[in-house]
Amino acid sequence: MNSSSLYIAQKKADEVLSSHMFPRYAPTKNWGTRTCNVIHDTLDTTQKIAQTIKYLASAFFRAIDRCIGSIFTKMYYHFHPINPVNGQRHAMLFSRSLEKFLGDYLFYPINTIFLMKTREKIPYTKEKIGSVVDEITKNLVAANTTILNPPGEVAFEYKTEAMLAPDFNAFAIPGGKVIVYSALAKELAEALDGNDIKDTTITLDDGSRATINLEGLTVKDVLASLVGHEMAHVASRHSMHMISLKLIRGAVLDTVRGILETLFVRSEERRQGLSTFLHDLQHLLEDFSDLFLSRKHEFEADITGAFFAKQAGYDPRGGLYLQEFLRTSQSPIIQKIREYTEIISTHPPGSKRLRALFAAIAIIDPAALKGKVTWKTPKDNPYDMTYASPAVLAAKELQKDFK
Ligand SMILES: [Zn+2]
Repeated sequence: MNSSSLYIAQKKADEVLSSHMFPRYAPTKNWGTRTCNVIHDTLDTTQKIAQTIKYLASAFFRAIDRCIGSIFTKMYYHFHPINPVNGQRHAMLFSRSLEKFLGDYLFYPINTIFLMKTREKIPYTKEKIGSVVDEITKNLVAANTTILNPPGEVAFEYKTEAMLAPDFNAFAIPGGKVIVYSALAKELAEALDGNDIKDTTITLDDGSRATINLEGLTVKDVLASLVGHEMAHVASRHSMHMISLKLIRGAVLDTVRGILETLFVRSEERRQGLSTFLHDLQHLLEDFSDLFLSRKHEFEADITGAFFAKQAGYDPRGGLYLQEFLRTSQSPIIQKIREYTEIISTHPPGSKRLRALFAAIAIIDPAALKGKVTWKTPKDNPYDMTYASPAVLAAKELQKDFK
């Protein structure tokens, strides 16, 4: 299996998540429905206009490029390399060697001052957590080399350390180092041994519910998806992309703000007022865009983590188990709050991560789900399938596959 199935999986997960805020209903006389349809059509037309402008702009740059010897293309490719995790180009102002250097610089104090390596064992086994995550990392690296270290590029050194810490946490450092907290590994092993989590249920956009059986997984299957998730953040250079985008966006917005102030305000006093207002607005926009990007990165890492795990011979349902474990470790009220406050969160709520992962695993490794999914579909489906959103269509497709 090559990375193209991973790219298709990312797309499918996106479809399952992206429901239309203003669906297009069948024509009726109901004013509410008609308003919804008008908004839908307006948004649709706006999107088409934006796409045309984008196409014309790229044609313009291509034409200039041809005249002056492809300088734009070269610069564009240099600062827009392909992200091996999703096959799309992304903004990147930093070299891999600089990223690796920064990562090592950060890793040293974390590894020596702030955290301590653990000697603890995985409960009910003789294996140390450190050796298990190390073995998993080696297997993941061996099975996913072309994505983790694309040929011809400066190679990152992937290594996972288990640290003594009481929280459920794991994180990646740019350049390849991954930290897993011992409490998370131990509690996962306890939950698996006690058969605490038997399944997980996800609700799709058309109201149908899929219950996926999670029995028979090992702690290594689950840890493989966890370590794979963190390695995906490194491979797709998420932190460096975030910083690059911040710098580019800041420069563009500062320029636009400067032009607006010069063009529309004559008196110095008013300029000060407008400047403060635009400044605040800019920061607000930047904060929301950072949070959106962070959540997008999490989905990408979840799906890629499950893909890495499957490639290395682990059961990708481990990713679903991990999300269900983290979700149910919180009280139902906190789970609900997280769902309602998604827009101001760095991480998407567990229910959405499970939905995206399920759609992705259906593409990455359908065999892992065969015979393990039970569907429940509501009798009165409010959706007119002629106008169904991509999310509903994708949900219907999944239902067909695992009936
Ligand atoms: Zn993450």
